[in-house]
Amino acid sequence: MQFEFNLAPNEVSANGQFLALNGRRFPLVLVRNQRARKYWLRIRPDGSARVTIPRYGSIAEARRFVERNKRWLERELARLATRPQRPREWRLGTEIFIRGEQLKIEAGVNGETGLIRCGGEKIFAPDMAVDLRPLVEEHLRQLAEKELPARLIELGSLHQLPVRRITIRNQRTRWGSCSHNGTISLNWRLIQAPPFVRDYICLHELAHLRQLNHSSRFWQEVERMCPGYKAAEHWLKQHTLLRD
Ligand SMILES: [Zn+2]
Repeated sequence: MQFEFNLAPNEVSANGQFLALNGRRFPLVLVRNQRARKYWLRIRPDGSARVTIPRYGSIAEARRFVERNKRWLERELARLATRPQRPREWRLGTEIFIRGEQLKIEAGVNGETGLIRCGGEKIFAPDMAVDLRPLVEEHLRQLAEKELPARLIELGSLHQLPVRRITIRNQRTRWGSCSHNGTISLNWRLIQAPPFVRDYICLHELAHLRQLNHSSRFWQEVERMCPGYKAAEHWLKQHTLLRD
């Protein structure tokens, strides 16, 4: 699973280095290269900006260099955003999250042919040569359809908020939603998040049954129902499950 920063050995620590552009923050990765004669800037496929710092260069100068090239960066990021992205392939050895645990996709053992494993999950995989992602995702989606509605109903009854209708969906950009008629939709990828994060999203959508907006009253309601919600939001920001 990809984290916001994947530092190669020669990369200067990029923690906290961000670039503000059109009100959004982009990770900035600074790489020192002893052979470079000048500063270089490029966009990586994940949308972060990579700056090469020459031998005697500094982080401060690298930031000024980025500032001077903001127009170019904006154009390049816009171009990247409109390009369709191919999802990362999942193969044997790929690590994925299930219920917040980082697990490796492994071949079945003891003569189990056509099977792969991931933690306690056994997944039927007739063709090992192909990208395993569609098979594993389908399995996770089925898990989600079993586990997420049950948990939502449980949390709803705990807070005297009966849920009329639940759908499990494959949204690209959101974790859940609540409609005017009280239908709560949850993203199946929540099955990949740890239980406290899954619960927060459930409680967030349940709170919308009382406040169908993001007003301060809504957030008070969330705080009351889920006091640790900020840690859950932080987890979701740190892990790129939807953008991976
Ligand atoms: Zn909301």
